[in-house]
Amino acid sequence: MTNYRHSPPSWPVPLREFTARRDAFRRWNRRSGVIAAFLVVAGLVGFVVLMHWLVQIVGVSDAVEITVCFGFAGVLCAVCVLLPRWLNRLPAQFGLRCPQCGVVMGNLLIATTIATRHCGECGARLIAE
Ligand SMILES: [Zn+2]
Repeated sequence: MTNYRHSPPSWPVPLREFTARRDAFRRWNRRSGVIAAFLVVAGLVGFVVLMHWLVQIVGVSDAVEITVCFGFAGVLCAVCVLLPRWLNRLPAQFGLRCPQCGVVMGNLLIATTIATRHCGECGARLIAE
């Protein structure tokens, strides 16, 4: 099985290569979703354990407690801003970006490209067959 991540295609590509890139992207996306869900749960559990340890065992002041809570909220905000940006660019890592208009193909544009052999945004020929 060819790993299509970070290997740019030479357009137009055969249909088999395009669907293989799509499948590789979907597999990677599914795996990273499971890992992200695990990290979110682990982060929340870790935060609760940390707060319990700080408050019940160490006995920190309210100021430290509030600082830790704001720090955790900051990390959550950063993740909420950066994760969608990264996810939107993910198909491009598998070569699913139109060479003419630069649109990164989501599921709808991938399906349109497979059906028409052309970019669903600008009409450039992407699949050679
Ligand atoms: Zn295009």
